Amino acid sequence: MGKTDLIIIGGGAAGLMAGCAAGELGLKALVVERKHKPGRKLLLCGNARCNLTTNISENRMLQMFVDPVGRFLEPAIRGFTPSMLQRWFAAGGLRTVVKAGNKVYPHTERASDVLNLFTDRLRDKNVSIACSSTVQAVEKTRAGFRVTTGNFEVEGRYVLVATGGISYPKTGSVGDGQEWAKKMGHSVKPYRPGLVGFEVDPKVLKRREGKIHGMVMVDILSGDKKIAETRGVFEIEKWGIGGTAITDASRIMARRNLKGCTLRVRFENGSVEEIKPLRTRPIKEAMVTIGGVALAEIDCRNMESKKCHGLYFSGEVLDIDGPTGGYNLQAAFSTARLAVADIGKRCGKGGFKSLEKTAKRRMRK
Ligand SMILES: Cc1cc2nc3c(=O)[nH]c(=O)nc-3n(C[C@H](O)[C@H](O)[C@H](O)COP(=O)(O)OP(=O)(O)OC[C@H]3O[C@@H](n4cnc5c(N)ncnc54)[C@H](O)[C@@H]3O)c2cc1C
Repeated sequence: MGKTDLIIIGGGAAGLMAGCAAGELGLKALVVERKHKPGRKLLLCGNARCNLTTNISENRMLQMFVDPVGRFLEPAIRGFTPSMLQRWFAAGGLRTVVKAGNKVYPHTERASDVLNLFTDRLRDKNVSIACSSTVQAVEKTRAGFRVTTGNFEVEGRYVLVATGGISYPKTGSVGDGQEWAKKMGHSVKPYRPGLVGFEVDPKVLKRREGKIHGMVMVDILSGDKKIAETRGVFEIEKWGIGGTAITDASRIMARRNLKGCTLRVRFENGSVEEIKPLRTRPIKEAMVTIGGVALAEIDCRNMESKKCHGLYFSGEVLDIDGPTGGYNLQAAFSTARLAVADIGKRCGKGGFKSLEKTAKRRMRK
């Protein structure tokens, strides 16, 4: 049985960033991933182009997350801002570009390049990743934690759970982290699909079929009252309506537990249609899971559990979600770095400052 400073469970966006951050600080760390390759969901991001973040100030970004999520994420996002994220990728050799709507992508617009950067960096920083290894149990020991997979056991002083939500389960995120959290005394907020399409009356689909819709504005109406508005693409699917304007609306409705809303869609050509969603598509098709480990039980200043000393959480395993546009990856990356920074301090390592300086120098070239 091996021993290490930090065991990171999950090799998705949060786990890969955490592994790199641990390597930067010189921590002895291991990433454990259940799929045969890491970053399965990362590869799907932004239609395989990987919308890494949004190029806006951290204040604006926190507003867009909406409280209580925005409030919870404040230390993480301020510690690793959208512009720091872009500098981090540039320092690793992958420049970013800002596209329409302030969306930030790798300049190659290939998610595979993002994943390669992570795995190369893990290798260069001597952080191992054990793939095809499903963690079955996480137990507290006197010295830290014992993590058991089907193939091996490993002990670590600290554990970071980065196992994701429950959407797109084929990518490996099936809710295991939330189950361990429950066993360790945490509550888990109920799951709802976020960023997903709606099934609607087939008559709506017939009316709209074959038309080009482009950008639309959507008002979310509860009775006569406008609750919120979204803006983006509107698409007609076989089963209903989708596109970013609609999926963003689905997230707002789920987050606020709004039922029976009407969507007033304002098209570019001036026409307006009110659509009553029948139901959302299933959570396995959602881009983000709403619900997860309760935020009140996690210290937002370092991502450590308030219930179990030395146990940390990052990314979508927590009850956090953001709109489309790179917010969810930013949250995964920022929460991962905040957790590792704290673990680094406890293990007597310095902060990330030198990396930031290197990144700034490389940006100037
Ligand atoms: C189609 C699609 C497109 C998206 N596009 C974007 C986008 O462009 N921009 C954006 O910001 N967000 C996007 N998102 C959302 C974003 O991908 C997620 O919010 C983000 O990946 C969450 O990162 P995570 O590390 O928390 O979880 P995940 O990326 O889901 O990673 C969790 C990892 O943990 C592993 N794991 C789970 N259980 C175990 C276990 N028992 N043992 C070991 N390993 C385990 C899983 O196999 C997985 O690799 C998209 C999502 C989808 C589905």
